[in-house]
Amino acid sequence: MTLHTLPPLVYAFDSLEPFIDAKTMEIHYTKHHQAYIDKLNSALEKYPSLQNLKVEELLTDNLKIIPDEIKTPVKNHAGGHLNHSFFWPLLKKGMLCEGKILAEIEKNFGSLATFKEKFNASALSLFGSGWCWLILNNGKLEILATSNQDSPISQKKIPILGIDLWEHAYYLKYMNKRADYISAFWSVINWSQVEKNLQKAHI
Ligand code: MN
Repeated sequence: MTLHTLPPLVYAFDSLEPFIDAKTMEIHYTKHHQAYIDKLNSALEKYPSLQNLKVEELLTDNLKIIPDEIKTPVKNHAGGHLNHSFFWPLLKKGMLCEGKILAEIEKNFGSLATFKEKFNASALSLFGSGWCWLILNNGKLEILATSNQDSPISQKKIPILGIDLWEHAYYLKYMNKRADYISAFWSVINWSQVEKNLQKAHI
């Protein structure tokens, strides 16, 4: 069987300081992300035919191909694995939103400032654990919030940018102040990766 494994992190845990602290990065990556992978592998143990599929294939079309018995764990843990694998490359300090991604944001939201405002409001109002995304839906950029580890791809929407809003993503440094974490997030967005995600989505 092909086991799912933790993808390499291409930067040091402390590279996002002071916006995201090294301890949070270390625990988030080596413990939380690893746990989603371990639990996904364990959910698939009895289903050899599903073991060689990519996480995207497991989650597609509302998990249609997943047997009822393991639907919930696969949704949670394949989702957690996919979302975190998508999240790490999105983070880098000192990047500017420019070029095609800026043009598309301006086309869809009016301005970068308006997009940020709407994204912040959506991220802040999400109840409980989940993610807030910039997604591509029928060729249009939209903001979408999802609960738990639900992936936009299960709804046939393509993620372009996303913020992890689970408390494990920020509580060590920001504690109850989710708004401060969301505000810091704008300083660690790797806009060149966001643009790559947009290009991959064939816009
Ligand atoms: Mn997380």
